[in-house]
This record gives sequence, structure tokens and C-alpha cells, in this order.
Amino acid sequence: MENVHELGFLKAQVDALKTQGVFRTLPVLEGANEPEVTLSGKKVINLSSNNYLGFANHPKLKQAAIDAVNAYGVGSGAVRTIIGNMTLHEQLEEKLAVFKREEAVVVFQSGFNCNAGVIQAITGEEDLIVSDSLNHASIIDGVKLSKASKAVFQHSDMADLESVLKAKRHLHKQCLIITDGVFSMDGDLAKLPEIVALAERYNCMTYVDDAHGSGVLGENGRGTVDHFKLHGRVDFSIGTLSKAIGVVGGYVAGRQVMKDWLLHRGRPILFSTSLPPAAVGAIIAAIDELTSTTAYTEKLWENGNYFKAGLKALGYDIGHSETPITPVIIGDEAKTVAFSKALYDAGVFVSPIVFPTVPKGTGRVRCMVTAAHDKRHLDKAIAAFERVGRSMEII
Ligand code: PMP
Repeated sequence: MENVHELGFLKAQVDALKTQGVFRTLPVLEGANEPEVTLSGKKVINLSSNNYLGFANHPKLKQAAIDAVNAYGVGSGAVRTIIGNMTLHEQLEEKLAVFKREEAVVVFQSGFNCNAGVIQAITGEEDLIVSDSLNHASIIDGVKLSKASKAVFQHSDMADLESVLKAKRHLHKQCLIITDGVFSMDGDLAKLPEIVALAERYNCMTYVDDAHGSGVLGENGRGTVDHFKLHGRVDFSIGTLSKAIGVVGGYVAGRQVMKDWLLHRGRPILFSTSLPPAAVGAIIAAIDELTSTTAYTEKLWENGNYFKAGLKALGYDIGHSETPITPVIIGDEAKTVAFSKALYDAGVFVSPIVFPTVPKGTGRVRCMVTAAHDKRHLDKAIAAFERVGRSMEII
């Protein structure tokens, strides 16, 4: 009989990934996240990080992290609700609430944790959650953890959203509509003004995960809600501190009463140790830097537009992104992985994204330019896309 401890059931699945040509080992980044990096022993242009503003290795943030370690140590020592709530955490939440123009903010250990914790805390079994079909995995998991009834509307399809609300809203006590602000795999924006209008018509609350809009859209990177001038009309604004802000963590911005409740029922707050001082110190410095100038966001958009124009001119299918995220759609999974590998050999790192991250048959490499790239990096990358694309007959 098979020895169950050899995990044969997993080996069969891993072998299937190998047969499909989508098995991969993790690339190893030898140093800080910069526009040009050494990755698994090879010098490449980095087009795959979420470090939108180049903050991940910013001298001011690094100094703030060091100062925080010197003052507070390396660990908070407990969950927020016991003795892990340091002055630094309080300062960060106050600063983020001002930045987001909301009454209050609760910070979590990651954006993923935030979705996993908030959705289940604010919904109950008599409620309904209506979620966009392309929402992020952390929203999907967060929704699964809720006892509410669930419905999905077709991606950004307002007629479908309304038909769900028409059919189901009246059967439930509260209704929460959840959407990404920026969809991470395509770079398109949620139709937030329409979603908010429908929510108001059907007496629903709105929840926007702005992981890829924070630090990117709106005044000084205040996010998608600010971009659409919808302050006061979105109930729960989620952001991450791991992408544009360059560190790690997540948060929800909204009413003070939301915060009061989450400090009692947000499970990652109650049962997981709070963010370490170095991270919190660096995030505070990041918000200060971001609000001091629009230079970072302007450079990000300038680079994004330049790079997109370059790829489009070569004849690539770059989808319908409205943000600096630039998907290059290849389709077939194995071909996507091979394309990414050939680009790496040509000196450009763009991670392949295949099922289950995106639907089957829509494999892509997702290019992420940052404010830290300069034209030289982008031109080199575009030239590599031209060479590799032609040799693989993609363009
Ligand atoms: N939401 C969205 C839309 C995301 O793209 C991500 C990151 N992939 C997250 C949440 C999770 O954020 P974090 O990396 O901070 O856990």
C-alpha cells in the first residue's frame, strides 16, 4: 500500500504542472528591489514589481525604519488588542485617515489579511455580498469566510450588477457590494461612479479594494475613490502598504464606528501580531514623502504611458489597461511561460501569469513600470520585447 506520508496525491498534481509546462521554481532576487536587479545570477531589467514609486529601497524610508528599530525594537511583541499597539501604530492610523480623507483607519499585517478580516467582521448570515467576478483572491477568500449569502456579477457589467440587486437585495438585511478599484491583472478601473449610484439606489454599502490604486491614482496617490471624487460615498476603502508605499501591510479606511467594531471583531487584529516597528516607521515616512510632492506619481504615469505606447507600436495585445499596469496577452499557458523565459534570457524580467491567477487561455506577462525606471531601462526592455516577440512569432 502507498505510504500516505510521501504525499503521492500532491506529487501527481505537481507532475501535472510539469507536463503542462507551467511548473516553475522561484526566482531569487539578489539585493534590493530596483529597476535593474540581479535575479538568480543574471542582471535584468525588473518589470515585475509592485514597487510603483520606487519606495521599497528609498533612503528616507530606510532611515525611518532604522530609527523605529532603535526606538521600538524589532517586534511589537503581541497582537494589537493585548500590548502590541505602539505609539507608532496609532500615529500611522491617524496619518492614513488624514491622507484618505476618512474618519478612521485600521491597519492590518497585509492587504490579504485585511480583506480576510474585514469582510467577515462586517457581514452576517442575514446579509448579502455582491462581488465582481474578477475581484482579487483575498476578497474571494474573505467572502468565503463570511456567513452572508453570496452573489457574483460579471466583471464591471453594471446591467448584471443591477439584475442581481433587483433579484436578491430585498431578501437580505444589509447588502455589501465589493470591487477592486484597479483590477490587478488587466489594469482597468472599476466603474465606481456607477457602482456607487446603484448602491445608493438599492440601499447597499460599498467596499473598494484599492491595492493597485493607492499611491497611483488621485491627488498624491490618494486612490481610486479620490480619482472619482467619491469621498463620503464609499463605506470601506481598502489599501495596501506593500505596493506603492513600498513596505508591507494593509488598511481599511472609513467611519470611526467601523474602527471601533474591527478592534473587537477583526480576527487578524485580535489573533495575529501587529506590524513590526521598522515597517510602521517606514510607512509613516512613505506617506510624508508621497504627500510632499506629486513628482513620484507623475513619473510613474509618464513611464507607464511611454512603455505602453512602445509595446503597442510593436503590435502587442496590451489589453485595455487604464493604469500603469501593462498586460501583454499571449493566451496559451505554456507559450506564456516560454515567452517570459526568453525575455529573461534577453535581459528583462516579466513574470508569467497563468491559470489560476487568470482564466485559462488568457496567459500573459504583466509589465509593471515604476517611477524609478528611466527611459534607458524602458527602451532596453522594448527592444528585448521586439527581438523576442519576432523570434517567437508573437508579433
Ligand atoms: N488586493 C489586491 C487587489 C491585490 O492585488 C493584492 C496583492 N496582490 C492584495 C489585495 C494583497 O495585498 P498584500 O500584498 O498587501 O497582502
